[in-house]
Amino acid sequence: MEFENTIGLETHVQLKTRTKMFCGCLLKTGCEPNANVCPVCLGYPGALPVMNKEAVRLTVMSGMMLGCEVNRHATFDRKNYFYPDMAKDYQISENGSPLCIGGGVEITRADGTRKFIRINHIHLEEDAAKINHYAATSGVDFNRGGTPLMEIVSEPDMESADDAVAYLTALKEMLVYAGVSDCNLEEGNMRSDVNISIRPAGEKKLGTKVEIKNMNSFSGIHAALEYEARRQRECMAHSIPIVQETRRWDPEAMETASMRSKENAHDYRYFPEPDLVPVELDEATMEEWRKLLPEKPEARRARMVEEYGIAEYDAEVLSQHKENADYFEAAAKGLDRKTAKALCNLYMSDVMALMNASGKAIGECAMAPAALASLVKLAAAGTINGPTLKELLPEIFEKGGDPEAIVKERGLGAVSDASALEAFVDQAIAANPGPVQDFRNGKKAAAGFFVGQVMKLSKGKADPKIVGGIVARKLSSLCLPLVAALAALFAGCSSLKPSQTCLFTDEEGNVIAVDYGRAAEKRETTFVAPNGRVMTKMEDMWVRVTLPDGTSFTAWKCMDPLGTGGAMYRSDDKKWMYHALGITCTVFAEAVNPKGEKDYLVVFEGLICEDTAKGG
Ligand SMILES: [Zn+2]
Repeated sequence: MEFENTIGLETHVQLKTRTKMFCGCLLKTGCEPNANVCPVCLGYPGALPVMNKEAVRLTVMSGMMLGCEVNRHATFDRKNYFYPDMAKDYQISENGSPLCIGGGVEITRADGTRKFIRINHIHLEEDAAKINHYAATSGVDFNRGGTPLMEIVSEPDMESADDAVAYLTALKEMLVYAGVSDCNLEEGNMRSDVNISIRPAGEKKLGTKVEIKNMNSFSGIHAALEYEARRQRECMAHSIPIVQETRRWDPEAMETASMRSKENAHDYRYFPEPDLVPVELDEATMEEWRKLLPEKPEARRARMVEEYGIAEYDAEVLSQHKENADYFEAAAKGLDRKTAKALCNLYMSDVMALMNASGKAIGECAMAPAALASLVKLAAAGTINGPTLKELLPEIFEKGGDPEAIVKERGLGAVSDASALEAFVDQAIAANPGPVQDFRNGKKAAAGFFVGQVMKLSKGKADPKIVGGIVARKLSSLCLPLVAALAALFAGCSSLKPSQTCLFTDEEGNVIAVDYGRAAEKRETTFVAPNGRVMTKMEDMWVRVTLPDGTSFTAWKCMDPLGTGGAMYRSDDKKWMYHALGITCTVFAEAVNPKGEKDYLVVFEGLICEDTAKGG
C-alpha cells in the first residue's frame, strides 16, 4: 500500500531583544550561571511580570513578513506544569488569542514546483531555564529563563523531509532579513518540534501523530523525519499500532526513541494570566512598525536584477545574506549598469574568495562599500588596469583606505595614452629582432612575447588588451610586403594555386584562417543590393574562412563592388566576406536589424597579418 506523510512544525525562535520577556535582566551569553536573574525570572512569589514591548514588536513584524493577520487584542495564559527549569511551575504563553494568525511561506521543491506552507499562528512566550548536569549533581542556570521566544506553528502541509527543510530555510531567511532573530541554530536560537503521521494515499483522515522534540539542526530534522516515516511504514506493514507519543532523536544511533506519551492541551490547565493586561495594538503603532519592514528577499532579487542589470543567479547568491546584498547595493548605488555589473562580478569572484580565505563576513572587513565602488570605477575608466585592480583589492579588503588616493600616491595609474604605448611597442620590437622574425615565420606566440615586454617597460601599468591590439597591428605591418604580394597575386586571379592560406587577426589577436582556391567549374552567385538591384556573377574563385570560434564556411567570389581590387564572397549559408586591398577582411552574416529590415551583421573584422603559404 502507498502511504503519504503529513508533517507539521512548531518552531521556537529566540527574539533579538536586549532584555528578557517579563523583566529587565540582560540577555547575554557566556556569563557565569545565574548572573542575569531577578525575582521575576527566578519565579519568586509575588514578583510581577512586565511586558517587553520590543518582543511584541518583533513578533508582530515577523507576522507581517509572513503574511499573518495581526491580532490587535492579544492575551496571555498560564501553561501549568512542574519541572525544575520552571521555578513558577507555569510558563507564560499565549493559548487562546495569539499575536499573529494565518500566513505562510512558499517553498520551491527540487522539481521546480512551488508549494505554499500555511502557518496556523505565531505566539509569544518565555523560555525555561537550562539544566546542567555534572558528575554527581545537577544545577539550574536561570540566565536563559525568561528569554522571549516566538513559536511559529505551521499547518501539517509538508509531505517530506525535504519540504520541512525548505520551509525552515525560507522561514530563517525571512526572519534574519527582518532583523527579528539571528536564527543561529548552533546557539539554539531556532529550535523545532516536528510532528509526522502517515496515512494511506488518498485517505482524508490524518494518521496518529508522533512528535520529535527540540531539534536544532536542519540535517538532524531531515534525518529524523526520514527515519520516522520509514519506522511508521514498517509498523503499518506489520500491523503494529502507532502510538501518539513524543520521541527523541538520537543523532549517534540515527534513530528515534520513545520518551513519553504525548500530553494533550488540557493536561496543562491553561488559564488567563491574571498579572498581565492584554496587548492592545492601535493603528498608529501598527503603521509605525509596518514602515520598519524590510523588502522581502524574493522581491529584492527581482529588483536587483532590474535595477543593476545583474544575472538572476548573482542576485540570488547576493540576497541569500542580507549583509552581502546591503553591501553590494551600498556600493552599486549611482553606478551605471555596466559598472554595477562589473562590481557584481568582482564581488561574486574575488571579494567572496577573500571572505572565504579570511573567514570574515563582508561587515568585518576594512573595505567600505564606497572604496570598492571607487576601485571598480577606476578600472572601468581605464585609470588602473586589471592586474593593478587585483593587486589593490586584497590590501583594501584587509586594511581599508581610499583607492583613488592610493593610486595617486603610488603612481599606479595605467598608461592608457596611445602614443606612450606605441612608443613602448616600437621599443620592444626594435630591441628584439629574433622574435620579430619568428612572428614573420608564422610563430603566433611571438606576439605574446611583445605584450609581456611592453608590460615590463610600463612597470605593469599598461592595459594588456590594448597593448595586444597595438602589437598585432605593428607586427602585421611588418609582414605587409608578403601580404601585398599576395594581394597582387589575388587581384590577377590567375596564378593562384589551390589551398593557399592567409591568417587574419583581429584587434585582440584572434586568428582566422582563409584558404583560397579555384573550382573546376564557374558558379553563379546572386546578390541583391540594398537598393533592390539583383546582380548575378559567374566565378570560380572560392575562399574557406575559419572564424576564431572554430566555425568555418566556404564562400564564392561574386564581385568587386568598389572597383578597388577588393572582392566580395558569398557562402551558401548567406555569409558574406569583403576583402579589400589585401589588408582588411570583414565577414558579414545576413540578419534582420532592430527596425525589422534585412541587414548585414559584422561577424568578424580583422587584418591580414601574414601569409603562411610556403612557396605559393
Ligand atoms: Zn529577571
